[in-house]
Amino acid sequence: MTLEKDAELKARAEKVIPNGMYGHEWVGLLMPGTPQFFSRAKGAYLWDVDDNRYVDFMCAYGPQLLGYGHPEVDAAYIDQLQKMDVGTGPTAHIVELAEKWVSMVDHADWAMFCKNGTDATTMALMAARAYRDKKKILIANGAYHGASNWCTPFPHGVTDEDRAHFISYTYNDVESLEAAVAEAGDDLAGIFASPFKHDVFTPQELPDPAYAKRARELCDEKDALLIVDEIRAGLRIARDASWSLIGVKPDLTSWGKSLANGHPISALLGSEKAKEAAGKIYVTGSFWFAGAAMAASLVTLKLVEETDYLERMISMGDRLRDGLDEIAKRRSIEISQSGPSQMPLIMFPDGKGGYDMDIGYKFCTGLLGRGVYFHPWHNMFISAAMTDADIDLTVQAADDTLAELLQVSAA
Ligand code: PMP
Repeated sequence: MTLEKDAELKARAEKVIPNGMYGHEWVGLLMPGTPQFFSRAKGAYLWDVDDNRYVDFMCAYGPQLLGYGHPEVDAAYIDQLQKMDVGTGPTAHIVELAEKWVSMVDHADWAMFCKNGTDATTMALMAARAYRDKKKILIANGAYHGASNWCTPFPHGVTDEDRAHFISYTYNDVESLEAAVAEAGDDLAGIFASPFKHDVFTPQELPDPAYAKRARELCDEKDALLIVDEIRAGLRIARDASWSLIGVKPDLTSWGKSLANGHPISALLGSEKAKEAAGKIYVTGSFWFAGAAMAASLVTLKLVEETDYLERMISMGDRLRDGLDEIAKRRSIEISQSGPSQMPLIMFPDGKGGYDMDIGYKFCTGLLGRGVYFHPWHNMFISAAMTDADIDLTVQAADDTLAELLQVSAA
């Protein structure tokens, strides 16, 4: 595997892009030798600029749901692009798409569209505050809701005032949620929750129904809004909002990433109760009303409703999980696999209650060299385009990598 062209581009990028790259796709956050630049993708595969092929377990960090370059989705995108994309007003697709979401998602009575996940979470935040003119917002420790000044995980460029009205609580912990609600007093505007705990560097946790139900009750008691951030998990857990599986209806849900199988669109959905507040906030963007991504989203949602994409993703995720469990058992090593199997996080316990990130990075490097793109500390994504053969190739690559790592550590 050579990465010559990648190295050349990285050197050029260093000169004209701060740090050579930024945000979640900056490979400076990963192992040395991780390719930064890619040239093409199809189905479950991604090719870097040096033409190395990978089975891609990051799915563009979520946007890719049904496989890269899905012919039906892309045909709808291109067709609308040729007619009109960004115009002086939206196309009829915006109405069709809002109707589609309202019919698909039980809690939703209306929809607004935007471009990135952060747009949708920021709109949720503003709508919750506009709802009863209250300020305090509860966010779980370690949860990611985007990269605007109110939620970006790093402190640079952010003032204390930007974070003045946020109170943190521990996910799945009813007592800590109740304490945070008490701290907010009469000023509670809303509670943010992720569909499940999918924080980085830490095992994922499914939602405890008692926590989700208590969050609902507390919002009702305080006349505040319950916001579930579906941006990462949406359409990967259910064909409805993710908490429909545990019988809890949010007031607002923010969606992004996968809605148009890679084309840029995100959404805020809400219940009747939150509609007036959502109509009051002034939110917009030059590209938010563009027709092509909406046309692509309509086809994506049709495929979500009509195909077994979700069941296939779950079965591929289970196949991977079983394969890795078998390796762990046979080789007497501990592998932590957490979260829903279609959104796995794989880490190596260090025997002291933590995780051995060095092995995690080496494991991912070994897989890269064998044509598999894994992430050492962020949840991964199974795509509906993956096949049994892709998973079997991955499990074999994992076994070969671990054999090599064990040999080195024994030597
Ligand atoms: N919320 C969650 C749960 C996310 O995973 C992300 C993106 N990783 C966001 C919000 C922000 O989305 P975007 O990067 O599209 O702004």
